[in-house]
Amino acid sequence: MQQPITLIIHGGAGNIYPGMMTEQQEKDYTAGLKYALDKGYDVLKNGGVATDAVIAAIAAMEDNPLFNAGRGAVFTKKGLHEMDACIMEGKELNAGAVAGVRNIKNPIVLANEVMLHSGHVFLSGSGASDFALQQGLESAPDSYFFNKERYEQWIEIRDSNFYQLDHKADNLKGVAPNPDHKFGTVGAAACDVNGNIAAGTSTGGMTNKRFGRIGDSPVVGAGTYANNATCGISCTGHGEYFLRAVVAHDISCLIEYKGFSLAEACDFVIKDKLKKMGGEGGLIAVNAKGEAHFSFNSTGMNRAMRSSDGRELIAYYGEGI
Ligand code: ASP
Repeated sequence: MQQPITLIIHGGAGNIYPGMMTEQQEKDYTAGLKYALDKGYDVLKNGGVATDAVIAAIAAMEDNPLFNAGRGAVFTKKGLHEMDACIMEGKELNAGAVAGVRNIKNPIVLANEVMLHSGHVFLSGSGASDFALQQGLESAPDSYFFNKERYEQWIEIRDSNFYQLDHKADNLKGVAPNPDHKFGTVGAAACDVNGNIAAGTSTGGMTNKRFGRIGDSPVVGAGTYANNATCGISCTGHGEYFLRAVVAHDISCLIEYKGFSLAEACDFVIKDKLKKMGGEGGLIAVNAKGEAHFSFNSTGMNRAMRSSDGRELIAYYGEGI
């Protein structure tokens, strides 16, 4: 039997429940997720590698202002857009990441350039921008990142010292309630025809963030991780908790050292360990057998997957698969 190919993506977790979105909003999110799924899955279907599938899916969501990444990135305390992204491949454990980058159209493409051509793993701020320029990456003016809804979200809290998840998290210390329940960090994980896996995550972080705050998304082992021997993971949620719990690598360790299945490891970390710490959010996961799993302890997570074994899903609410 041929090695199964699988792509799994997310567009953020949070307080997402039936009736929250208008019919039109749900249609728009479904179209956005499906477009990203198609873009990434086409790469796999044509025999492409897992990293390229992850980049294609994430770049499609970065170009869509519905999601808190790339074009739709949230506003910082200073009214800027500072984006974080990471990609990792599971064969050689190569990784590339950027944090606090501005005016880069597709931060996931920059993270991949870091992985392939910088000789480093993690670049930040203006240095990362210099590298992007050197590599000839597409930049975009501030106006490209302007989004009325995100602007209004920011205006509500910019005079406070609150920062805000792009989805509701009003039970969290220091985090402002988010009345319009926006969400939208993006991620993808893929298993290609050769059984190689990759994972990536891209985000604008948190509305009104200050002091160069960096979340879990670009941190290898926290928000993003890939290892052919265990799993490929992309997380979304309150980054400070995911950083402290080193979520993605913790799941890999449970598989590697304790023999947990993919689903057992994800659910234990998200629904038990992280929940006990007070961390809200979720993740997507694949392994080299093409198995996929979603896990979240929030009310919902924007998610989609497709596999060559015939499984396909686009969902927002309720339990993971
Ligand atoms: N994890 C991201 C961060 O803390 C936010 C999110 O997933 O929505 O930056």
